[in-house]
Amino acid sequence: MIHESTRNAGLQCSESEALLKGSAEDGGLYVDRYLKEKRIPLQDLLKMDYRETALAVLSLFFDGIGKEKLKEAISAAYDRFDIPETVSLQKTGDIHVLELFHGPTSAFKDVALTLLPHLISNALPEGEKALILTATSGDTGKAALSGFSNVPRTGILVYYPKDGTSRIQELQMTTQEGENVAVYGLKGNFDDAQTAVKEVFADQGFRKVLLEKKIRLTSANSINIGRLMPQIVYYFDAYRQLVLSGSISLGEKISFSVPSGNFGDVLAGYYAYCLGLPVRRFIVASNANNVLTDFVRTGVYDRRRPFYKTISPSMDILISSNLERLLYYLSDENNEETAAYMQELKEKGCYRISETMRKKLQELFAAEYFSDEETSAVIRRVYEKEGYLLDPHSAIGYAAAERYKEEGKIVALATASPFKFPAYVLNALGQEVAEDEFANLRKLTEVSGQEAPKAIARLQELPVRFEEAIGREEVRSSISRFLKEHEL
Ligand SMILES: *Cc1c(COP(=O)(O)O)cnc(C)c1O
Repeated sequence: MIHESTRNAGLQCSESEALLKGSAEDGGLYVDRYLKEKRIPLQDLLKMDYRETALAVLSLFFDGIGKEKLKEAISAAYDRFDIPETVSLQKTGDIHVLELFHGPTSAFKDVALTLLPHLISNALPEGEKALILTATSGDTGKAALSGFSNVPRTGILVYYPKDGTSRIQELQMTTQEGENVAVYGLKGNFDDAQTAVKEVFADQGFRKVLLEKKIRLTSANSINIGRLMPQIVYYFDAYRQLVLSGSISLGEKISFSVPSGNFGDVLAGYYAYCLGLPVRRFIVASNANNVLTDFVRTGVYDRRRPFYKTISPSMDILISSNLERLLYYLSDENNEETAAYMQELKEKGCYRISETMRKKLQELFAAEYFSDEETSAVIRRVYEKEGYLLDPHSAIGYAAAERYKEEGKIVALATASPFKFPAYVLNALGQEVAEDEFANLRKLTEVSGQEAPKAIARLQELPVRFEEAIGREEVRSSISRFLKEHEL
């Protein structure tokens, strides 16, 4: 399977290289020129369970790995989930909620990050090792640590902003078990952490020294094809469940509402659509950082706006990297046009897509955004009326879905467990919030009558393994030290 850069059709590589490199040398993202010619036959879907669907989808993109190896990887990944079905579809009011948070870290990123390490292991040439560097604002770091923990021939270092995550998110990372992991708090905010890690990736000298030891620097961020492809699977699985339960007939179009930040999750939905899934509409749901809402409504992407910290922090983002892939496909696989938009974004902070592209975009996509107050009100209303507890990210997807439910069947993606954000959820329910997050966790359990995921409840008892806070300039030395102390 050959992948090319969104910005240059001549810049091609194999799936293994794409997995190991993340993005192309010209800054573009790897895409499959023939995506729209591939198909998952709907009739076959009805006979498959989640893992078989995953095998069918992933075989389309990772044929070099081989079916048996893929099958093993899928089992190893999804055996770690709390439910054998991997995801769960719940009917709540007029809307179906697709729960994607039953993985080891209680966020939807587990669906891809439990699988990615196995894909990377398979892609690694013999005798080589992969060192994963990740800057995180919270969710990605933990899901990546958990995914790569004790995976042979890999090591992972995670850098998070020392005072920029929730207490639960921090403890999830600093208590991580495994022989090949390390976690550092960086002095500064998320952008500082991101910049520090990017500097290391750009340091050719440093990379060369590592390559001489047969160590490749790799990232686990959401532009990697190994993050994107596993997310296609649950769109098909939700559709299958709706057909089997008699909610829709085979071939009927449905809509999906997707809480969005970096545009990876909803883009995977678009890939499912390209592979033949009958979709009426994707609703891109955002918080106050509504750059995507404006883009879908006007065709203008303009990042020159204030950045807001919200109660849905995993969607606090102004540069939605994966959108570049949608531009490539909406422009009919036109690399020059895609590159030109990205150049404008870099130089001016904004771009306007062509009229043809805008029409295509709006035929399939709609967009909504919600303030923190609106999000809290939705959490409370849905809980009081339906007895269903949403986390702030999922609440935004749900609220957006409500605006389109008259059009037909709609699935709202739920991306995190409410127990990951107990203070925000308690506050939304009108309950008092304590300083101590574990007190909040207990109270949310008490108020809702639901159990917190075991991995979160257990955090309080786990020893903290990583307490070191470092400065931006110490990232390289932290890597060298890690490599001295660990045999990958
Ligand atoms: C990462 C994340 C999102 C946003 O997903 P993108 O693929 O970045 O659009 C939404 N909700 C939660 C809980 C997340 O962790």
